[in-house]
Amino acid sequence: MQNTNTYIVSNWKMNGTAVLMHEMVKAFIENPATKNDKAQSTNTTPRWVFCPPALLITETKQNYPEIILGGQDCHQKRTGAFTGNISASLLKESGATYVIVGHSERRHYHNESNALIAEKACMAIKCGLIPIICIGESEETYNNGLTLDFLKKQLDESLCGLNKEQHFIVAYEPIWAIGTGKTATRTDIEKVHSFLRNQLPDTPLLYGGSVTASNAYDILTTPNVNGVLVGGASLKIDEFKTILEAARMCDTAT
Ligand code: PEP
Repeated sequence: MQNTNTYIVSNWKMNGTAVLMHEMVKAFIENPATKNDKAQSTNTTPRWVFCPPALLITETKQNYPEIILGGQDCHQKRTGAFTGNISASLLKESGATYVIVGHSERRHYHNESNALIAEKACMAIKCGLIPIICIGESEETYNNGLTLDFLKKQLDESLCGLNKEQHFIVAYEPIWAIGTGKTATRTDIEKVHSFLRNQLPDTPLLYGGSVTASNAYDILTTPNVNGVLVGGASLKIDEFKTILEAARMCDTAT
């Protein structure tokens, strides 16, 4: 994980339009904050990974080939009779490099289990994508002081079948912080990320949950945080610009 930029993953969820995609990308394409400063390195990461709705991936890649893209989910099978689903292989062919799996909205609204998420992550890797595997506890679990116990099980089961040398990312996203305006405290994030780092010494670790222009720098400078996953704030050009600048400040400081 040496010589890596700080990751800023923007998850548009089922929001945005082609018009907004063009505005957003044009606003950032020449911005040094989106560029990879460490391009000479053999182990580089992009700073900005853009995860629009899947229907916008091809158009984004065709118009702006330098933008690094990700899907928001993929199916666990390579191909087949799964109407409405999106395959990892086609995401790859469309221009994606990454794919989010196990987002709490998928776990909640589509009843996705840890075992299913592990299958999706394995398929993503087989198809040449880098999975961003999301984990996170409920407010009740947090209030009961059971966060680390819960995350240990969720992590073990969601990574089942992967080995630690494979290229994947883990995003810690407390459910109670997603889209709520409540952010985990720096102390909470530090505690969870130190626990994750012990389990996964070389894996990039992201935090997600109500990241905004005003808290991004503080979160990004928390030990063992290698980036953030941003939902709502990634749809607002000015706010997102400040988040990207915060990442750039972190990178130039190291
Ligand atoms: C997310 O979608 O993963 C997320 C963290 O959303 P928000 O930033 O809106 O809380």
